[in-house]
Amino acid sequence: MARLSMKRMVVRAAIIVALIFAAYKYGLFQSKTPFTYERRTFKDYKGGAPWRMHGILGLRPDGTPGFPRAECPTNYNMAEELRSNGFFARLSDCLPLDRNITDGRHKSCRFVQYDLDNLPDTSVIFVFYNEHPSVLLRSIHSVLNRTPPQLLKEIILVDDGSDLPWLGQPLEEYVQLLPKVRIVRNEKRSGLVKARLRGVEESTAQTFTVLDSHIEVEEGWCEPLMARIKGDRTRVLMPQIDSINQETLDPVVGGIGCSLGFLWNLIEHSIPIQKKDQALRTTAIDAVRSPTMAGGLFTADREFFWHLGGYDTEFGFWGTENLEFSFRIWQCGGSLECMPCSRIHHIFRKGGHAYSLPPGHVAKNKLRTAAIWMDDYGFIVKEAIGAAGKQPDIGPLDHMLELKQQLQCKSFDWYLKNVYPEGIITDLSDIRALGTVKNTANNMCVDNMQHMYADAKMGAYACHGHGSQTFLILARTKEIRPVGNLELCLTSDTTISWCESRHDVTWDYDQANMLLKNTKTQKCLAVGDGNNLVTEDCDLHNDRHKWTFDDKHPDKHPAVHF
Ligand code: UDP
Ligand code: MN
Repeated sequence: MARLSMKRMVVRAAIIVALIFAAYKYGLFQSKTPFTYERRTFKDYKGGAPWRMHGILGLRPDGTPGFPRAECPTNYNMAEELRSNGFFARLSDCLPLDRNITDGRHKSCRFVQYDLDNLPDTSVIFVFYNEHPSVLLRSIHSVLNRTPPQLLKEIILVDDGSDLPWLGQPLEEYVQLLPKVRIVRNEKRSGLVKARLRGVEESTAQTFTVLDSHIEVEEGWCEPLMARIKGDRTRVLMPQIDSINQETLDPVVGGIGCSLGFLWNLIEHSIPIQKKDQALRTTAIDAVRSPTMAGGLFTADREFFWHLGGYDTEFGFWGTENLEFSFRIWQCGGSLECMPCSRIHHIFRKGGHAYSLPPGHVAKNKLRTAAIWMDDYGFIVKEAIGAAGKQPDIGPLDHMLELKQQLQCKSFDWYLKNVYPEGIITDLSDIRALGTVKNTANNMCVDNMQHMYADAKMGAYACHGHGSQTFLILARTKEIRPVGNLELCLTSDTTISWCESRHDVTWDYDQANMLLKNTKTQKCLAVGDGNNLVTEDCDLHNDRHKWTFDDKHPDKHPAVHF
């Protein structure tokens, strides 16, 4: 009897599961979402597979591959292999140029139906300087394989003065075996900003899409970008960036997320989706508004890009153009969004770089960004990158400042309050001080003792006021951050550690008694023996517990100029 009813229960459960499955498959649950759910069929695409949207690629007329695969390396020293590019380039040479990769998207993405014939098209622009050939080709193949032909007008390769022999004539010949791809070349390396500008000038589609030359796109990467820009040409859109393991070259799900802010040393920084931005979304696959972009990968309307003035041509080879452009987009009437269904895998370099960068130019890019867009907040950048008190040549600003005026761009204060309200600074009053934390009785200052890395122990050292003693002390969020690395915070152990990994990084300042009390442990910062910095039970009468801030705020030091 018991066995019989058990059997019946199993049969019933199986029927219920089958019914749920059928209901899901045939669309009973579809009306609950704002999207039209329909299974995509790929039979119409040349090549017959979802990832062969432009047919079989790279074959010579005799059917042999134009870029044959090499033998896989068996004997190698990984550190050595990583040194030249930051990834295992020789391994790439033996992997297929066309390969299927994991679908890291939210499952709903697969069912969104796009009216491909009525979406804007795009010109994909790859800029490269001495990119490893098979990695560059795999990037191009992935775009051809996974972009619906209606959406892909052309692929423009901008060679930024490379001198790797294969990137010369052999690349020219290989490109003949691919549809829609052409090369333009800069005689001399001019940096990614000018190279991308060249690509945009050459492009002919309504939108352009900038991609790094070591990426692989996932199926469906392009459609959400085009659908979103169709509604509003002032939207600048980014895919969600996943990664490719530098040693195995496996595409992996997970990267920098969809929402980015910045640190005050002008480095982009992943952040949780801000509350006000989350409030605009109703499903997990809706657009995410983001204060900044990572830079390597984005789509914009060509006319809107020129309306915003294009990139700042005074920028050096690499870096910070992403933040400069993000600030400009928001301040001058556009918006910046990430589409979670658009996923692109990027090789983040590890242990090496493909090219050298002349000293000083990244600092120049940062200082230009600060001087043009950050108004009276710019001095923080100057401090954070160690340029305070110096007057480096940052090139002419006039044309950019004129543009800012002509477009009637809003202030940085507006940007912080409206676009990035969850940032660590949204008002000048959030900066309690920027300078030394000083124990006046002993003339000792909190000092990083030349150790500027996570979990380094801080010390107390005779005050001299220079870099190792410069901290950003925040009023609203209450942290004390070494200005040289604003991702680190002073902890109750008197180390500087990743702010987000700790719960003991906030301090109350008791101004009347000059005590700095850790909000978690309730202990006070104190000068210990020798050069030690310690925390102890607070003692109102102990001079070693009394601190002042040497404030470099520009209201009090109006001589901060660019
Ligand atoms: N690049 C370039 N000229 C340069 C430096 C970089 O064309 O002087 C290209 C580079 O080949 C890549 C893109 O710009 O396609 C972005 O650079 P990279 O990927 O090195 O930056 P990362 O992603 O490492 O920040
Ligand atoms: Mn890159």
